Parts: sequence; C-alpha cells; structure tokens
Amino acid sequence: MNDTLTEVDALVVGAGMGGLTALRRLTADLGLDAVLIDRAPAVGGTWYANRYPGALSDTQSYMYQLPFERELFDATNPGWTTRYVPGPDIQKYLEDAVDLWGLRARLRLETSLLSAVFDEENSTWVVQTDKGVYRARFLVTALGLLSNKNVPDFPGIGDFAGRVVHTSDWPADLELAGKRVGVIGNGSTGVQLMTELAKVVGHLTSFQRTAQYTVPAGNRAWTPEEMASFKTDIEDRWSEFTTSKIGFGVDETTRKTFDVSDEEREAIYEWAWQKGGNYTFTAETFADMTSDRAANAAAADFIHRKIASIVKDPDTARKLTPTEIFARRPICDSGYFEIFNQPNVDLVFTRENPIETFVAEGVRTADGELHELDVLVMATGFDAVDGSYRGVDIRGRNSEALADHWADGPRSHLGVTVAGFPNMFMVLGPNGPFVNNPVAIGVQGRWIARAIASVKDEPGATIELRPEDEDAWLTTCLEALEGSLFLETESWIFGANIPGKRKPKTANFYVGGLDKYLEISDQESTQGFPSYRTSAPAAH
Ligand code: NAP
Repeated sequence: MNDTLTEVDALVVGAGMGGLTALRRLTADLGLDAVLIDRAPAVGGTWYANRYPGALSDTQSYMYQLPFERELFDATNPGWTTRYVPGPDIQKYLEDAVDLWGLRARLRLETSLLSAVFDEENSTWVVQTDKGVYRARFLVTALGLLSNKNVPDFPGIGDFAGRVVHTSDWPADLELAGKRVGVIGNGSTGVQLMTELAKVVGHLTSFQRTAQYTVPAGNRAWTPEEMASFKTDIEDRWSEFTTSKIGFGVDETTRKTFDVSDEEREAIYEWAWQKGGNYTFTAETFADMTSDRAANAAAADFIHRKIASIVKDPDTARKLTPTEIFARRPICDSGYFEIFNQPNVDLVFTRENPIETFVAEGVRTADGELHELDVLVMATGFDAVDGSYRGVDIRGRNSEALADHWADGPRSHLGVTVAGFPNMFMVLGPNGPFVNNPVAIGVQGRWIARAIASVKDEPGATIELRPEDEDAWLTTCLEALEGSLFLETESWIFGANIPGKRKPKTANFYVGGLDKYLEISDQESTQGFPSYRTSAPAAH
C-alpha cells in the first residue's frame, strides 16, 4: 500500500460532471487547495465509462450541460448541433471545461478511492487511495448515481468461449461488425445499444426479461434559428428552474388525462410521439401519468398500439409489449422496435423461455435451442444510487461505517450530507432530487460551496448535519413518494433491480419537484444552515 501523504484543503472524488463542478466551485469560489481523484484514466465519469455504440444523452442538448456557467456555455455550445448529444461530445465538453477552468493540474487520474476515515482529533478526512494517502479538511464525493455495474451470475457463464462485456466497461478494441452478438438487458442502455448494433452485427439476439415502454427520441439537427435562440435565452431557461418540477427544459403541463375528449387525448399522444422525447411524452402531454392509474393505462395503451403497428410479426410484437404499468425511468429510442423487423435480429423472451445455461458456443434456452454467440453484452444496469458507495470503506464520527448508517436504506439531507459525517458532501447522493442531473449537479455544487464557506475561515471548524434533520428529510422524501406509481415497478430507482437490496424505508430520491428542492435548499443556506451544527473541534 502506497502511504505517501498529501495534505490538501479539499479532496474531490469523481471526474464526472459532478466532481468537476465541485472542483470548480471549491477552487474558483472559495480559493481552496483542492485535488480530484478518479479511477478512470480520463475525465467524463459516466460518459467515459459508458462508451458503448449508440450512447446518447436523452435530455435536449441545451439542457444537458451545466447550468449557471455562461462562459462554459459560450465556449462549448456551438459544437452541439443536434437535439441530443452523443456521449463522446459530452466527454469532450467536460475535457473542455477542465481546460477552460484551469483544473488539469489538479486531476489525479487512475487513482482509486479505497477508504475515507474521519479523524476526529484533527477534524480532517484521511483518504487512502491506491496511489497514496490524502489528508483533507473537506471531502466531496461525486461517485455517480449509476457507476457500480450490475453483473448477474448466469449459470455456466464461465464456460462461454466468447467475449463477455458490460456496457459500462466498454473495451476500445471491441469490433462487432459481422459478429453474432447477444444482449441481456433492454433498459435505456440496452435499447440504445441494440438499435445501433442491429445496423452492423451479423446477428443480434436480445434476451429480454421485461418488455419496456419506449418512445421515439426524435433526434434531429437543430436549425440555425434554434441554435441562435439557445444562445440568447439560455439564462432565462436556467431561471425557469424555480418553477419547474424536473428541469429538462420541456413545457411541463398541468393538464389531466381525462380533462380532454378521447379524440383530443389521442391527438396529444400522437403529437408527442411525432415530436419525440421521453420527457415530451411524459411531461408535456398530461400531468397525472405517474399518479393516476387510469391515466397511466391510457398512455400505456397508446404505446402498446404503436408497438403493434411497428413490429410486423405479431408474436414478436406481443413479447415486446410491456404488461406492467408505465412507471420506470422513461426511455426514448431511435428506431428500437423497428429493428425486430430485420432478419438479423431475434428476440428471446426469457420469462417464457428462460436462459438455462451458457455453454462454450453460446446460450442454451429452456426450449433446448442453442443461440450461438461470439460476444455477450450485459446491458444489465447498475447497483445504483448508494450502490456507488458500497464498495468503499467510508467512516465518520465514532468510526461509524456509511454502509452501517445506511443499513435500512440510504439517508441524507438534500442528497448532499449525512449525519455523523462532518465536512463530507455528496454530489447526487441518495435522496437528492429526481430531475435532470446536470441541473441537480449545478445546484448542489453551489450549495456545497456555500456550506463550506460557512466554516472555512475558522481553523478546524466542521459543519455537520443534525441527525433529526436527516430523519426529517427522509420523511419528506417518503411523503413526496406517496401515491407514485413508480413504487409499483421493479427498477433501479428503489434498488429493486438488485436481489435483496430494496428496503421498506428507501426513498433514494426526492420527487417533490425541482422548484420545491430549490426553495428548501436555498432556505437552508440563506438562513445559515439551521439543520447543521457548525463548530470548532474543541466544542465536540
Ligand atoms: P436498467 O434500466 O437497470 O436496465 C437493466 C436491464 O438489464 C433491464 O432490462 C433488466 O431486466 C436487465 N437485467 C438486469 N439483471 C438481469 C438478470 N439477472 N437477468 C436478466 N435481465 C437482467 O439499466 P440501464 O439500461 O443501464 O439504465 C440505467 C439508467 O441509466 C437509466 O434508467 C438511465 O437513468 C441511465 N441511462 C441514461 C441514458 C441516456 O440518457 N440516454 C442511457 C443509458 C442509461 P428487468 O427489467 O427485468 O429487470
């Protein structure tokens, strides 16, 4: 173990959008001596990890960037000429941000976080990495909502002679043209990947466990007029967050599904389908899609009929048609259902015909068929949210492990702080807002800087969440979830994708709206952090 010691004011973990934003705020706003570590060899976070073919943001490009950063917007926006941004362009945006903000010398890449322990005597964090030890007064973790990959153990997988890859660990040398490729998983990732792979592979087999709702993305080039308008009104769009529930820059409607006639309703769904976009379909049509069962069923029925009209083989269409309610993180695609009309694409519905075992040549299913494969891709998602923290030994006051603190489900205040973990902050931690992530990152980055500013000039002082306010925020998050149909589906949002993980009192997100989140978090900082104890070491 390398125990070379480096002392810094602040250590940031994670070189994605969250960590880079935190580093920017700590250095530019507060003048701290801060460094950032990341296990990857490049910045980009999720966009570096998920370099699978077809990786594309599904937030409209003018909104998939850091808010409140006019200079960065001006320096980079001209490159974003399409409605959605391809993954490599987002990575480049973050590389450009590092250079524009002069942060490169502060990056310690290929450096893995092993443990972080709060030294109560000195009120500092002692952080062990594989490249040495850091002692830092402030610790900011931006480990990613979706960065701890889920790799299920399929029977016989070790016998498979082909290559096995996970989408979040995409090998640069993987050539799939002409190959026989199997994909397990048809969430946002699998849908994007398969739509792209179907164009180049020899044969594609989708091993689908649960059919998913997905709507057209409607990706297209922006017109010059649209590009010009983003430049002039971007700051107005950022100021609209105070009245937005989700921060995606779409026109959020308050209209209810059954406020309109059957014909009007059909026309509104059709308009959204033609325009494209998952948040257009879920937020610009009707406001009650995820809270009213009949409203949800009406939207689901529209998508069911679309699938039947696109997919030519009726049995394949049946298998692709979701039977659960429409209440997972919404997906959009660039021709997903259409690929199942291609002769080189097959669907295996594993609830009807389970994977029995892997063998050297491929996968044998329960019906006895051998699906020969050269490559198996796991698009099987992540141990999400707190999952990113599970592999790291983080200990706060009284040596309490974060994993123990979260034994009954993750808890925090605003998704940013944890009781008993002084001077430690998370970007996109559990129980943060369920909104457009760059917006949450921008908001939380500013909030963390304000919190640190409140103690930074008093040597050794700490800021620490009161346990009762952690309880209160969990209650707020759970109350906001009441009546949500999302509670009824089994997805990563509540940890239900990982066997045994979902706990009764897990919220994972605050779904009360961005507007309310901004109001609550602004109040906290402008009122001098009433949910926190700020004190010098001797006072403890
Ligand atoms: P995901 O939504 O969790 O989907 C994982 C898929 O793998 C599901 O189809 C799941 O089936 C399947 N799966 C998992 N374990 C399995 C097992 N043991 N056997 C068979 N199938 C299994 O993961 P994801 O697609 O990577 O997406 C995660 C999140 O990342 C998204 O919701 C989104 O927030 C984000 N994302 C965003 C974009 C974008 O912005 N464009 C792109 C990609 C990802 P079941 O449904 O049956 O569990």
